[in-house]
Amino acid sequence: MSVVSIKPKTSSKKETTEEKIFDAIIIGGGPAGLTTGIYLSRARMSTLLIEKALPGGQAILTEIIENYPGFPHGIAGPELMQKMEEQAVRFGLKIEYGEVEEVKIKEDKVKIVKIKNQEYKALTIVLASGAEASKLEVPGEEELRGRGVSYCATCDAPFFKGQKIVVIGGGDTAIEEALYLTKFVQEVTIIHRRDRLRATKILQERVFSNKKINFAWDSVVIKILGKEKVENVLIQNKKTGEEKEISCQGVFVFVGYIPNSKFLKELVKLDKRGYILTDDNMMTSQEGIYACGDVRKKILKQVVTACGEGATAAFAAQKYIEELKGVSYK
Ligand code: NAP
Repeated sequence: MSVVSIKPKTSSKKETTEEKIFDAIIIGGGPAGLTTGIYLSRARMSTLLIEKALPGGQAILTEIIENYPGFPHGIAGPELMQKMEEQAVRFGLKIEYGEVEEVKIKEDKVKIVKIKNQEYKALTIVLASGAEASKLEVPGEEELRGRGVSYCATCDAPFFKGQKIVVIGGGDTAIEEALYLTKFVQEVTIIHRRDRLRATKILQERVFSNKKINFAWDSVVIKILGKEKVENVLIQNKKTGEEKEISCQGVFVFVGYIPNSKFLKELVKLDKRGYILTDDNMMTSQEGIYACGDVRKKILKQVVTACGEGATAAFAAQKYIEELKGVSYK
């Protein structure tokens, strides 16, 4: 890495957030971004985190997180994320709200993050923009979104009290959310495109012993039907080709996620699904730009892995910043 010395500007005028060159800007306030924020702020790097909605990421939509170490009886997703935010802010992390539209690099290695009508500058960027729910892309899905079609059980389950609903997908999210929904609804049918679940075994044990849950195996939804609200889904058995309607008032879709990386355009290397490629130190193909959490290509998407990657990204970013500033420990 070539080293340029970036000296702090000497000005008597108080700089605004937009004029200032931060040491680091973190894009995204889920577990990965907030952990990066905790580490960088504790290292006394001036750090800005930009979040488009509420800090917490997808974890804030999770009723209970059972596999984050240190909480033997689990912890509510919103509570864990609120604590992470509090911890980061306590060490000096600054948080701004807005949707990042573009990231550019200037010749002097200063990176520019553009939000609507505003630009922020930093020596390094940590991309922690996460992922969002994939759509089924079937007729009726968009039209009935918010009128029976949902992507978040924690948000919408109480609207379906005593009703019949379907859950689509067979991964951890689908099974966890189906189990959660049984606290509210009369009956859940899980529609899965194969004859076995992808979800972890402990979740499978719970779902198979839950009397409110039944399954439509080897089946895909081909249409969501209803005038004002969801009334039915039309499914097709992939093995037999047989089609049938299932009467339901709610359709909960959990068929994976797509990474929030569109705003990066050609800036860093992505895989064909849009996940950011990094090395072991979380550095992307672009010097001084790091990525962590669900937006990064990896095999395990968990709060605990997001946090670990956030810590690694922060450590690597700190070294990069110090080298740029000519800081030496010798
Ligand atoms: P996922 O693991 O990718 O599972 C997606 C599910 O949807 C799969 O069963 C898949 O079927 C099905 N699917 C995909 N596209 C479909 C389509 N077009 N039509 C019908 N079905 C479709 O996604 P996820 O469950 O959201 O989990 C994402 C990541 O978060 C995973 O790494 C997971 O382990 C993690 N996670 C962990 C926890 C936890 O530890 N408590 C909780 C939630 C999520 P196939 O199986 O046939 O591919």
